[in-house]
Amino acid sequence: MKDKTIKAKKIKDVTPEKKEKKKAAKKDVATWSDKPFFADKSWKIKDKIFKIKIADLLNETGKQDEIVFEHKFSDQLPNLDDEGIAANFTVQSLDNTSLLGTLTDVTARFHETCDSCGASFMRSVDVPSYTARFVFEDEITKKKESVETEEVVLYIDPKAETINIEDMVVQAILLNDPFVKRCDTCTKRLESVDDEDDFDEFQSKWNIIFS
Ligand SMILES: [Zn+2]
Repeated sequence: MKDKTIKAKKIKDVTPEKKEKKKAAKKDVATWSDKPFFADKSWKIKDKIFKIKIADLLNETGKQDEIVFEHKFSDQLPNLDDEGIAANFTVQSLDNTSLLGTLTDVTARFHETCDSCGASFMRSVDVPSYTARFVFEDEITKKKESVETEEVVLYIDPKAETINIEDMVVQAILLNDPFVKRCDTCTKRLESVDDEDDFDEFQSKWNIIFS
């Protein structure tokens, strides 16, 4: 969203009709290239936009861009606290059909229920680094080798010339989920007791929920 639009909104009277239009327009916003990113503090209405324009990058091999974001929310992570997700995202063009995306310092906090005692607690997540490659969908079928590697491959939206890093951010966080979520008190208690049976019981609760 450009600054001009935001300023205009503050000055002019906003009719309900205009409001709806603006809402609809906001859904399509894909302009992370406009810095600074959070000039309008719009994160207070739960910013769920993870699209990034990449047209410029594809035109110039080796070109790199860095985006620092915070207060992002995803429907895939319903337990997120009000601060949302923060991270750095670096995107580099490998050639005119693929991009390398690297997330660093992904931080988030989650409202959790302790698997041992049932108490509510906050769990902090900190992912140092997570990488994925973004390609056009046809490229992947041509270059089969990339499917066999463990590399994470996501698709570029060819029409809008955007990438959506929501799944990447969500995966980075979920991959770091512990098998068992325990509050500090239980973690400390179990560290001193070292109960093997207890561990086995909770391990079976583990579900993989990647989509
Ligand atoms: Zn507990």
